[in-house]
Amino acid sequence: MDKNISQLFEKMVHGDRVALGQAMTLVESDRENDRISAIQLLEWCETFLNKNDPSIRLAISGAPGVGKSSLIEAIGLKAIDRGHKVGVITIDPTSTFSRGSILGDKSRMTGLSTNTSAFIRSSPAGSVLGGMGRRSHELITLLAAVGYDFIFVETVGVGQSEHMAWQLTDGFVLVVQPGGGDELQGIKRGITELADMVIVNKADGSMVDMAKLTKSHYANALHYFQSLRSGWEPKIVSCSANEGIGIDEVLDMFRLYKKGIQESGMLPAERKKQKIAWLNWTLGITAHELLMKHPVVSQQLSEATKNNELLNLSVFKTAYDIELQMKQLITSTNQNIES
Ligand code: GDP
Repeated sequence: MDKNISQLFEKMVHGDRVALGQAMTLVESDRENDRISAIQLLEWCETFLNKNDPSIRLAISGAPGVGKSSLIEAIGLKAIDRGHKVGVITIDPTSTFSRGSILGDKSRMTGLSTNTSAFIRSSPAGSVLGGMGRRSHELITLLAAVGYDFIFVETVGVGQSEHMAWQLTDGFVLVVQPGGGDELQGIKRGITELADMVIVNKADGSMVDMAKLTKSHYANALHYFQSLRSGWEPKIVSCSANEGIGIDEVLDMFRLYKKGIQESGMLPAERKKQKIAWLNWTLGITAHELLMKHPVVSQQLSEATKNNELLNLSVFKTAYDIELQMKQLITSTNQNIES
């Protein structure tokens, strides 16, 4: 057993915030040595959580600008006032390009980021889709093991890419803002079907009436959607994160959801489903990375795409040839394993 890792674990579960930050950096690292230590740490967390896990994990989704960060700040501080510990993971889409997380979200969470009962971490989305970051699930596990009982995952919030966030959390919260009548068309309708709870934010100033209308549109729509998590009827509230109006109601809704799901006895089965979804997702990503980075495949791809080669070739035949190559690589690996 690595003494440093066991010390890190001990410090972390006893509330040392620096240790928690270090543990998060460790689980996000791709270096082989770090992976071994990270897996050890995560295994201890899992054992710990199997005995006692107070956490509820809520995905906070919605288009950029609807006020997700402002809401998490307002609700988080209110939750802390009522004795909760609040962990926040923000999925940072911009880091796909900048290769590293920006801390932009923290600027809207100034109260939470300086509060000792809260912990905020920005998780790079990388090129991974599904509204989650590559290591978000690991970060959630660390936060839960340390005793953060409300864990908010602020997702990328773009279009249909939120399904993974739905699958890896206990509840899906859709945040919308007051808007026109075609609110529930297309993409938004798809994402609304995932929602366990809807929040109409920015119900303040000149938007109060529009917020009421939007709330009734969503209430009607939710009425027709069957809840995807049994035992819960989707709920909707309106509020203003900026003015602090209706935040108590939002927190009451979250607490009701938490109590309901924890007392229903369904949580172990839900978490098992999450583990299966995560396993498939993470192994899919790894398989993709390994195959695409394989020298034979990457060379074939780069040859086909260099200069104007592809203009002279059939793109379908090119894809087929590379797929054949991939299959051959896997077959020869299988043969090596068997012999
Ligand atoms: P996010 O991109 O969904 O996280 O949204 P932000 O929390 O960053 O907020 C986007 C903008 O909406 C900012 O200018 C906020 O000040 C504003 N905003 C957030 N909540 C409210 C609210 O309750 N009322 C009003 N009027 N503006 C809000």
